[in-house]
Amino acid sequence: MEAEAVLAGLDPEQRAVAEATRGPVCVLAGAGTGKTRAITHRIAYATLTGVVAPQRVLAVTFTTRAAGELRSRLRALGAPGVQARTFHAAALRQLSYFWPKVVGGDPPKIIESKIGLVRDAARECGIRESDPARLRDMASEIEWAKVTQHRPEDYVDAASRAGRKPSTDVVEVARVYAEYDRLRRERNLLDFEGMLELTVAVLHDEPQVLRQVREQYRHFVVDEFQDVNPLQKMLLDTWLGDRDDLCVVGDPNQTIYSFTGATSSYLLDFTKQYKDAKVVRLVRDYRSTPQVVQLANEVIGRARGDAAKRHKLELVAQREDGPAPVFSEYGDDASEVADIAQRCRKLIDEGVPAREIAVLFRINAQSARIEEALSDAGVPYVVRGAERFFERPEVREAVVRLRGAARAGGDAELDGLGLIQTVRHVLMGAGLTDAPPDGAGAARSRWESLAALAQLAEDMAVDNPSAGLPDFVAELEERAAAQHAPTLEGVTLASLHATKGLEWDAVFLMGLTDGMVPIKYAETAEQVEEERRLLYVGVTRARAHLHLSWALSRDPGGERYRQPSRFLDGLTGKTGTPTPARVDRAASRRTRRSGPQPCRVCGRPLTAAIEQKLGRCQDCPAELNEDILVALKDWRARTAADRREPAFVIFTDSTLQAIAER
Ligand code: ATP
Ligand code: MG
Repeated sequence: MEAEAVLAGLDPEQRAVAEATRGPVCVLAGAGTGKTRAITHRIAYATLTGVVAPQRVLAVTFTTRAAGELRSRLRALGAPGVQARTFHAAALRQLSYFWPKVVGGDPPKIIESKIGLVRDAARECGIRESDPARLRDMASEIEWAKVTQHRPEDYVDAASRAGRKPSTDVVEVARVYAEYDRLRRERNLLDFEGMLELTVAVLHDEPQVLRQVREQYRHFVVDEFQDVNPLQKMLLDTWLGDRDDLCVVGDPNQTIYSFTGATSSYLLDFTKQYKDAKVVRLVRDYRSTPQVVQLANEVIGRARGDAAKRHKLELVAQREDGPAPVFSEYGDDASEVADIAQRCRKLIDEGVPAREIAVLFRINAQSARIEEALSDAGVPYVVRGAERFFERPEVREAVVRLRGAARAGGDAELDGLGLIQTVRHVLMGAGLTDAPPDGAGAARSRWESLAALAQLAEDMAVDNPSAGLPDFVAELEERAAAQHAPTLEGVTLASLHATKGLEWDAVFLMGLTDGMVPIKYAETAEQVEEERRLLYVGVTRARAHLHLSWALSRDPGGERYRQPSRFLDGLTGKTGTPTPARVDRAASRRTRRSGPQPCRVCGRPLTAAIEQKLGRCQDCPAELNEDILVALKDWRARTAADRREPAFVIFTDSTLQAIAER
């Protein structure tokens, strides 16, 4: 694409961001105003005009998935080769690269979760703690202390100053924290914060490494800057040194990670650090209908506190009218999820692809009920952040083989083969064949996992033609840490915290009771405000259909002790609604069929455990793409017209071929 064409898809303010090819630039704007789009086009424009070389750009995003999306957008704009990573991934790559030269010996093993080590540390301190919730709470206190740069001996004071209220006594948390770090060093383990700290330390202590990193990266772009934490900021400052080619974008109203130590102050004070920074504000909302935008403005318009007043980032809708947001109140949880599942079913039947629908909740524990209801209604779904692809034994084994080959210089040995062939060669040793084995069963599922890994190598080779085996292994480790598996197709289930930057045609915000949003342990005014921002993030994920719901009691016929979220009081569409939609209990019971979960592709009942895990029959296609959905709908309509009632349809290779040819 020509550089000028890259600018054509932008409004004047976004264009100003793209044309400011060198930093410092700060974009402050509300949800859906095109911040991410503006920085993507800015990078493409700068590289296409030759102002910057793609390999000198480091774009930092919030999730591995966002990084992947940025890279594929850049590729589509004709600007491949830019490094887009999370802070952790960027740090990990630098560490792995320099480790043999500057430290030597076995690199520490990265731990994805602190829980195991916290449990051991607590035991060493004589604290017999088996409650997973309390262990998780201790782990998040340790994480908070680390990202805000407080050592164990400072923790007690710092925690009380910050108004933290862990469920375990602060003195005990401090002891566990100290022991945790001792055990971690003894076992040569590195947690996520340690990864950033160590990178900063190596860069500070090794001038030649610092020189090399600064030579490599000259232009920095950071998305979601409102949720940067002090440790990440320290790494960014280290990369930059006294240079200022930095472009940040963020929305102070979407700060939702303060409880982990993130702060919007770096965004709000950007012009204090960079006095001649160009500041751009975007107000046009391109994502959502005016109805959704109005609700979003109302939700955040009531935010309290100074920052909220200073940064009233009211959104101006650009899209055409759509349906009014729906508020639904139910008698009990089961009725709520059953009705949501039926509404999803209806949207899909009307032609909305399942991947364009999301059901969002406050805490992951809410996921189980909706998963069950969707299965009952035959609606395919994908749980975000919970794909356990990298825990499958064949995947673990294959990753070990690839890691071993990378260490042994597999690249050099297989010189001339290129990344795709090198990876295939190693995977063939692990059982990958050119064609899948016949039939279903364990062999087929193993083959699919290995084929998915081979596919990832192909994606990477397209993304970055000079990538080698060590890069691929680093990418796999990064994905494993984030549990970012190749996704299946279906309705997205996610916690509100996991939805940053994403959008769907239809969004269901479920469980909006007081005590859930705001969560009951949000006590201080700031904590309650963070919960309000979380609701704002949820509302602004919807392009058109928005459904907000809550249930008054947990069990059918139970005491109606719950209240709707206080944030919903007096919102448009709620006031004036005479009786909130109430679910026909009998209808919702009818939808809750008992029996095995149906295959999300063909609807056949799944009996084998592995198939239930996959959510589909082993001989049904893994990818449920739009063509197949359309064909399925079409087929259902035809058979209904014929008054035939077949129980299921099986997609054989020839059916798929026929669909592909249509
Ligand atoms: P968030 O705060 O949620 O991260 P954002 O500000 O990053 O949102 P984007 O995701 O970049 O917003 O854009 C929101 C949607 O609007 C996307 O679908 C994007 O393609 C579209 N969009 C942004 N700018 C324009 C534009 N100038 N013209 C048409 N569509 C646009
Ligand atoms: Mg964004």
